[in-house]
Amino acid sequence: MLQTASAPSLREETASLLRSLGLHETSFTGGGREVRSPITGEVIASVPETTADEARATIGRAHEAFLKWRAVPAPRRGELVRLLGEELRTAKADLGRLVTIEAGKVISEGLGEVQEMIDICDFAVGLSRQLYGLTMPSERADHRLQEQWHPLGTVGVISAFNFPVAVWSWNAALALVCGNALVWKPSEKTPLTALATQAILDRAIQRFGPDAPEGLSSVLLGDAAVGEALVDDARVPVISATGSTRMGRIVGQRVAARFGRAILELGGNNASIVTPSADLDLTLRAVAFGAMGTAGQRCTTLRRLIVHESVHDALVERLARVYRGISVGSPVAGDALVGPLIDRTAFDGMQKALEAARAAGGTVHGGERVDVNGEGSFYVRPALVEMPAQTGPVVEETFAPVLYVLKYRTLEDAIALQNGVPQGLSSSIFGTDIREIEAFLSAAGSDCGIANVNMGPSGAEIGGAFGGEKETGGGRESGSDAWKAYMRRQTNAINYGRSMPLAQGVKFDV
Ligand code: NAD
Repeated sequence: MLQTASAPSLREETASLLRSLGLHETSFTGGGREVRSPITGEVIASVPETTADEARATIGRAHEAFLKWRAVPAPRRGELVRLLGEELRTAKADLGRLVTIEAGKVISEGLGEVQEMIDICDFAVGLSRQLYGLTMPSERADHRLQEQWHPLGTVGVISAFNFPVAVWSWNAALALVCGNALVWKPSEKTPLTALATQAILDRAIQRFGPDAPEGLSSVLLGDAAVGEALVDDARVPVISATGSTRMGRIVGQRVAARFGRAILELGGNNASIVTPSADLDLTLRAVAFGAMGTAGQRCTTLRRLIVHESVHDALVERLARVYRGISVGSPVAGDALVGPLIDRTAFDGMQKALEAARAAGGTVHGGERVDVNGEGSFYVRPALVEMPAQTGPVVEETFAPVLYVLKYRTLEDAIALQNGVPQGLSSSIFGTDIREIEAFLSAAGSDCGIANVNMGPSGAEIGGAFGGEKETGGGRESGSDAWKAYMRRQTNAINYGRSMPLAQGVKFDV
């Protein structure tokens, strides 16, 4: 008789993935903090919490490591990041699967997150031979003026649950080639992917050899209190914090109080404008992914759709059909496009927003709970909400799949609506009228850090600088010249002559 082995539980699968990624059993069992998978709500591991003393000691070790690492030539530091990219390629399937289990992302998004880590490593390797400073003409004879970029110290990374590993890599790959050490405080909801990522980096460090000092990169586990230990420590000159605006308001002020540098990547409330000349088939596909992908739990998720009155009804009718038919389900059983919310709090927040939308005159399609894996997990049908005006919950970020639809008459009105919220992360326009598109991209157009054309606001590539304005915090990470935030700029004036002229013609003869 044939015996069919039953599929392993998520807990067993998690343990097996963590072991194969190089973790010892003791690091993910028997700790004080339970880790749950949003897929079923079951406990999949328990991890220890970092004490304040341990956090201080770790930061001290990172500082000592920095003092050595800064002296390693930048292209050689790039070699460590190249090895990290190699290790990530090897670990991609396992780490991607772990992202799915711990954060609830569908399989292709879990893998996509690891691909993003690989991409930023490649970018940083090239960068390690650049880190250019300018040379400027001096106003004085026999003088030279130039700038150099030097390492800064330890970079503290605080990350959110929804990109549990990619955000760390944007910071880590750049910080390492820039000559800094790292201390990472991941979300308390996703410690396992963080421990696995640290183990992957440890393997790269081992292959790199003794030039990489002990303590170069570490993880602190716990909640806001552990994060604050990092935020308040003067031995950490840069804090890169990704999460809610509520968190950023606290962290930004505390870091400023000690004159540290904060890179803040906070909440978004992203909009797309659909103009009369838009290709509606393309728009429909982009809106579906932008608003429902990752179950609406991306900082760049499309939350407001601002549609010209001439195409509004046709688009909403088609969208409502897509919303009714979208597959909601477990990311590890089938090929659903929308996975679970992270937890009950997220579900309650979504329901509260929908109630507020109804109270403000909105018409809600969808938004109800879908029973996929019982009481402990929170799956929802994404909600499409027709709103009479941009009021109530529309100006807030609700971290769930809720798309508010608004109607507009003139492009000026549409841009005013787009900009009329406190957040300023990502935005987009759909259309083929070059005048409207360029007006949207101009200084008088979108006020966001990201402005896309004929695509949704989410799904950024690593080559560009990522981040947003206003309550999104103003930070930039990843590509372009975002690396400059991880270094200090030193301006050098060099006199290679025999006289000593002063700048601005000042005379001081002694
Ligand atoms: P959160 O603010 O609850 O937590 C984020 C991180 O901050 C966690 O590690 C948490 O422990 C830590 N933290 C919270 N309070 C702190 C404090 N006072 N001091 C130090 N650390 C503190 O956010 P979340 O629910 O994990 O993530 C969702 C939010 O993150 C959304 O608002 C989303 O838009 C935002 N986000 C922004 C970006 C971006 O790049 N702009 C990217 C991903 C997520």
